[in-house]
Amino acid sequence: MIEVDGSRGEGGGQIVRTSIALATLTGNDVRLTNIRENRPTQGLSRQHCTAIRAVAGMNDSWVVGNQPGSRELVFRPGEGGPSELVFDVGSAGSISLVLQAMLLSAQSHDSPVRMEIHGGTNVKWAPPIDFYPQVLFPLLSQMGVEAEMEILERGFYPQGGGRVKVTVTPEKELKPLVIEELGELRSVRALSYSQNLPGRIVDEMAWSCQEMLTDLAVIEVEKDVRQGGSTGAGISLAADFRHGMLGASALGSRGTPAQVVGQEAAKDLIVEMEGGGTLDVHAADQLVPYMALAKGVSSFKVWRISKHLLSQMDLLETFLDVSFAIYRLPKGYRIEVIPEEGA
Ligand code: ATP
Repeated sequence: MIEVDGSRGEGGGQIVRTSIALATLTGNDVRLTNIRENRPTQGLSRQHCTAIRAVAGMNDSWVVGNQPGSRELVFRPGEGGPSELVFDVGSAGSISLVLQAMLLSAQSHDSPVRMEIHGGTNVKWAPPIDFYPQVLFPLLSQMGVEAEMEILERGFYPQGGGRVKVTVTPEKELKPLVIEELGELRSVRALSYSQNLPGRIVDEMAWSCQEMLTDLAVIEVEKDVRQGGSTGAGISLAADFRHGMLGASALGSRGTPAQVVGQEAAKDLIVEMEGGGTLDVHAADQLVPYMALAKGVSSFKVWRISKHLLSQMDLLETFLDVSFAIYRLPKGYRIEVIPEEGA
């Protein structure tokens, strides 16, 4: 039984999601204590409970302590499990974060896994759902994992109601991800989206973002204007380089002018592009588990090392024979992920 103190490092929900996914991949039982100790509302929230139920369901696992507010969980992974699953996070709980756990755990399957998840698609403190097809899926594809997504309906806070379908084809022999330099910038793809709002909102977000980035790249704008059960808007960017992608985004909120939302996303991308990283800060913490499972040494650069990334590395060392080397560069950091077999 692997013991994980949930208050370590970032001390949030990611430690829970990554632990249970790694349990299914390594066959280890895990006990988590002090869950989300560093958050104002400690213990599991609905989003975490759904992720645990989903990963357990995918692998016929045995779980104790999976209820809202719980600060302790025991997870015993099973074997195999269904390859078609539907889960509802409820209201605007993040679909992306449930998917984060399911995608990683799906690597233990032998054949494609089809998931449908209901909840929030574009909510605070979580990857916008668009981050998957725009940034994570192309990078995972470089490692051999193929995934595709259909956004059936967007879900915004507070009503949620979003629906997303994902198919992932797992890869048992993950290739290392080696991105030392990004190479030539080919374009920036801007996805400007809204639901139940006037069409000018997506135009204003796209236009203000384009204005700030125009000297750097060709901007390809895609607009996604919908009607649905909840209301909101945002913009999600992917800078497409010869050897990789950098993502950035901003979410609209009541009272924030659309132009400001576009500018926030552009500023976020400029920080990433000028920082010298070859992965953006969020992609780094989300991809490092796949690198730790790969057959060979991965390497990438980031402009800053987030607490999420440090916590992921700490947790991966607990479950796997992997080590990490971090080099300070004049601009940012270079990180090597060294699985035992690849060393
Ligand atoms: P908690 O409520 O405990 O904070 P959580 O389960 O909501 O927990 P975290 O543990 O904070 O979440 O993990 C959030 C995850 O979402 C991280 O992987 C982080 O990189 C990712 N993330 C957050 N914001 C973005 C964003 N704008 N773009 C891409 N990924 C993001």
